[in-house]
Amino acid sequence: MNTPGVGEAYDCIVVGSGTAGAVIARELTARGQKVLILERGQYLPLKETVWTLASMFNEVPVADKLKDARVYAAGGSSAMYLGVMDEPPIDAYRALGIDLQPAYDAIRQQLPLAEMPDALMSPQSLRMRDAAIAAGYDWKKKLMLIDQSKCSGAYCYDAKWKALTYVDEAVRQGAMLKCGVLAERVLIEDGRAVGVECRIKEGAFRSRTVRFHAGRVVVCAGSLATPLLLRASGLQHVAAGGYFIDPSFTLFGRVPGLRGIDSFCGVMEMTLEEGIVIKDANVHKLPFLMFMLQYMQVPRMFAYPEHLGITVMAHDQVGGGLSADGRYHKPLDAGVFDKLARGEKAAREILDRAGARDIFKAPMFSGGALGTLRVGSDVDARLETSVRDLHVCDGSLIPENGRVAPTLTLLCLATYLAGILTHTRNAHAEAEGVAA
Ligand SMILES: Cc1cc2nc3c(=O)[nH]c(=O)nc-3n(C[C@H](O)[C@H](O)[C@H](O)COP(=O)(O)OP(=O)(O)OC[C@H]3O[C@@H](n4cnc5c(N)ncnc54)[C@H](O)[C@@H]3O)c2cc1C
Repeated sequence: MNTPGVGEAYDCIVVGSGTAGAVIARELTARGQKVLILERGQYLPLKETVWTLASMFNEVPVADKLKDARVYAAGGSSAMYLGVMDEPPIDAYRALGIDLQPAYDAIRQQLPLAEMPDALMSPQSLRMRDAAIAAGYDWKKKLMLIDQSKCSGAYCYDAKWKALTYVDEAVRQGAMLKCGVLAERVLIEDGRAVGVECRIKEGAFRSRTVRFHAGRVVVCAGSLATPLLLRASGLQHVAAGGYFIDPSFTLFGRVPGLRGIDSFCGVMEMTLEEGIVIKDANVHKLPFLMFMLQYMQVPRMFAYPEHLGITVMAHDQVGGGLSADGRYHKPLDAGVFDKLARGEKAAREILDRAGARDIFKAPMFSGGALGTLRVGSDVDARLETSVRDLHVCDGSLIPENGRVAPTLTLLCLATYLAGILTHTRNAHAEAEGVAA
């Protein structure tokens, strides 16, 4: 059934309730705007069980045989991320006409961003740190978005900041959250975004089309979904510049007698050389068990406390694209394999120093398919597309020369955009007031 649902009109429709969408909805509702959040995933309880992880997990092929992981659920990928933060690439955005510094200053005041003290690091992470330093590497602590008051030394899912808390806050402030709703295209009239057409599933075999209307639309569907949605809305020219995926793999080794505990992953890392990063990958027990099962390493499943994990990540060249049938494709350059090989040598040296034996190299994965859109050609410095009142804010806008773990940058970028959207709405309201 096709219902051209007219319904209520909103000030803003936010498509996707991940990090960026959650911030925008929270900021706009705090300033009195009427916001509708459309989320294709379900509202799942914030618990890390095999069932919740399996029901929200989704993978997209992005290069050769590599897939990129993402989450379909209210709160987006932050529901299962690691909580590891990189400083936002302020200079790279400044060169694009975007000043993230005020947003970053505000976020540092609001959120528990800090390095993990030694007392909260697991024996596995400490062992790896000591080995890396002994090998002469500059193994450094990372900022983590973790409420340390909730930690006692072992991994704690509840302690990690998650976008769902901001979604909940937006709803308390008046936002309407609709889950299980797939945005299929942005409605455009006279060159302006006026709403979103969606598909809502009704049972196993039926679905219906519904339209929601608003003064503006912000697409925050994630780096891989947003270009598809823009193209389906008629913006055929977007996502023509390629993307990067930072291919990565993890080595696991066993240290006989090590008494590891459930560990926060990624608390330390080093840059071996430009474009090669080596990271602590001492994941907590649940994903460790899932990995080992997936890779048919069953005996290791019984030896979690003795395992160390270390990830090698290399920057690939920007390239590839999105084909007309909606598939991402990207050949990996030879240089990235050289970088991975150099990183592997250093990672094995660290494991060896740590006393790890019986090394297992897990298959390569995408370290994050980002930068699918460009500030300058796909959106302007207000993150607005060529269609008026149609904005984008998510991992698609991470610049190639500012590659980072995206969450902190997205918190800043979304705060920046919310400021612009508030300012323009106030300006419109004032202009209308004067006209009246
Ligand atoms: C396992 C894992 C670990 C990670 N660890 C870290 C980390 O430690 N540090 C870090 O900074 N980053 C990490 N990331 C990456 C980070 O979580 C994401 O890059 C970031 O959350 C992206 O935010 P986003 O707002 O762009 O998109 P998402 O968080 O992916 O949100 C997009 C939302 O849009 C919804 N959506 C998509 N299409 C539609 C549609 N058509 N209609 C309606 N809704 C739609 C999705 O369901 C989703 O909820 C990790 C990611 C994964 C998968």
